[in-house]
Amino acid sequence: MNKGVFITGTDTGVGKTVVSAGLALSLRHKGLDVGVMKPIQSGDRGDTEFLIKVSGVKDEIELVNPCYFKKPLAPLTASKIEGVKINITAIKNAFDELCKRHDIVIVEGIGGLFVPLTEDYFVSDLILELNIPIIIVSRPNLGTINHTLLTVKHARESGIDIIGVIFNETKKKKKGLAEKTNPSIIEKLSGVPILGTLPYIQSVSITDCKTGKLKNTFLKNIKIDNLPTAYCRLSTAYKKNLEDIDKTHLWHPFTQMNDWVKEEPVIIERGKGSYLYDTLGNKYLDGNSSYWVNIHGHRKREIDEAVKKQINKISHSTLLGLSNVPAIELSERLIKIAPESLKRVFYSDDGSTAVESGIKMAFQYWQQKGKNFKSKKKFIAFYNAYHGDTIGAVSVGRIDLFHSMFKSLLFETIFAPPPYCYRCPIEKTYPECSLACVNELERIVSENRDKVAALIIEPKVMMPGGIITAPEGFLKRVREICTKYNILMIADEVAVGFGRTGKMFACEHENVPPDILLLSKSLTGGYMPLAATLTIEEIYKGFLGEYSEFRTFFHGHTYTGNPLACASAIANLDLFKKERILDSLQDKILLLKDELIKFYNLENVGDIRQCGFIVGIELVADKDTKKQYPMEEKIGIRIAREARDKGLIIRPIGNIVILVPPLSSTKDEVHKMVEIIYDAIEAVTCQN
Ligand SMILES: *Cc1c(COP(=O)(O)O)cnc(C)c1O
Repeated sequence: MNKGVFITGTDTGVGKTVVSAGLALSLRHKGLDVGVMKPIQSGDRGDTEFLIKVSGVKDEIELVNPCYFKKPLAPLTASKIEGVKINITAIKNAFDELCKRHDIVIVEGIGGLFVPLTEDYFVSDLILELNIPIIIVSRPNLGTINHTLLTVKHARESGIDIIGVIFNETKKKKKGLAEKTNPSIIEKLSGVPILGTLPYIQSVSITDCKTGKLKNTFLKNIKIDNLPTAYCRLSTAYKKNLEDIDKTHLWHPFTQMNDWVKEEPVIIERGKGSYLYDTLGNKYLDGNSSYWVNIHGHRKREIDEAVKKQINKISHSTLLGLSNVPAIELSERLIKIAPESLKRVFYSDDGSTAVESGIKMAFQYWQQKGKNFKSKKKFIAFYNAYHGDTIGAVSVGRIDLFHSMFKSLLFETIFAPPPYCYRCPIEKTYPECSLACVNELERIVSENRDKVAALIIEPKVMMPGGIITAPEGFLKRVREICTKYNILMIADEVAVGFGRTGKMFACEHENVPPDILLLSKSLTGGYMPLAATLTIEEIYKGFLGEYSEFRTFFHGHTYTGNPLACASAIANLDLFKKERILDSLQDKILLLKDELIKFYNLENVGDIRQCGFIVGIELVADKDTKKQYPMEEKIGIRIAREARDKGLIIRPIGNIVILVPPLSSTKDEVHKMVEIIYDAIEAVTCQN
């Protein structure tokens, strides 16, 4: 929605009605169609009638004031005495209706933020539900600092956006020192902009409004220039401005900017649960979990609060030479849930740095192990692998479209065939092949055993490579080969970790303990960048020695172990436990599986691959020959675009349509996502 402004007071009698009327008139003067609302009123309906008259709206009084009590009492008391509950739904419906009719709706509150409407529902809850920012009306005189700051604090803690404070001179009085200094003190202490002070106007009358006196006084004293751009859904102009800046200054990742500037971008402003909301108020299902990171939905209360709580302690201090509380606590929590052999946690910032630290650790480990192992310098990885975009990570990756450009910058890596059964690289058929690709891997490893430090693998699903799901038993055989030939196994669970595959870690599906485990994307529940490289004790011990031996792991990133990120990760893990995420996921995984069957009816769906809550649908130009769509057709991009128009955000990789919903998605939401994808594939492939 976001098409309104809520006018709240630090107290009763601060002049909310005058400010509401003044704002309505001023915005109308600026060319907006302004609606007004006074959701709850007790006593007489004078304020409501005044607002209606002043603003000249034609809306029914029941919409402008859906909740009315005759007795001039606090709303909860009045509702008890008159025996009628305050109907929040009716208020919301009225607001929605007014939003449809107007560019912006000015909602005049009742009392302040902490006024109860039911036993456990306050004005602040109503504001959150209407999802609009507030303007705080305050008095400039003595005693106002405390009231105003408390209002600001409570609004912030509730997650309410504050546009600013307007001071209203409710009495005709000469300005004393308090009146002169309070606004700037409050601005400084709260960090909230002061929009201005409205001078005393004696008993504002309808005539004052008609003659323009109120509007002129308001415009002269109150800064509202930013208000329409920042908060009204006039926002086509607001959005256009953002779009221009985006196209002038931003460079988007993995994006042909020539195409980008030709298209109208969706600009996300907020999120709630499985939904993203753009600046125009459109909502979209987050079908790729904001690129494979989100777990519990957006604005999850427990994580929000954990981060806020940590902010009140400290946002960052370094792990170089110091430690910090959340980093310590998180390390223990991670070791508790990770495969048993892993004992140490090394933090970094993102998936790529987790990979860098993992491969450097493996390399240095062998260099320090003794002369016999000094030749172990190479890595084995898989074709179609992706492990990040820094140079080390690119060296162990092999998606030619992304990686071939940088070939001359990379260290040499040995590549093995991936378990891509739909397009088997060694031209066998599963299951008759009995995992022939692993035999090929074993041959490669055995030939290079003395040269190889480690093998790096994305367990169970190679996600960026196109949701390549490995058949049962593949991972276990890889572990056996690593052990047999004495090379370290690095499991890149940056994308598949934290429940995405149906188990906490993908390695658990085949009971495989890696020597190094890389975690990032969902580690913080999708809130913040953070990564962890977990290792077995033996590797860790390989770095111990006298200082002068220089066996130290000389590697680290500035924001390592950032307390805010670690606090959100702890809250994420708490939620896995408290909400039994993995248990409740199993039914939804089965539902998803059922829903996917019908996709085989579609002419151009070649393969459907699912592992847990990860889905890849491979489109082909011809089902029988598995002929690929030419890249130029941008088939995946066009389907994602179509899905977006239908209210779902997904991002394909090449010709593979990908769905990775937040684990918290409801069955209904999952169903809706699948339906939209089906329709989008149908619509786009039919045009071809
Ligand atoms: C995303 C990803 C990475 C890289 O993580 P960044 O945070 O983007 O650096 C590495 N490995 C896998 C499997 C990934 O999906």
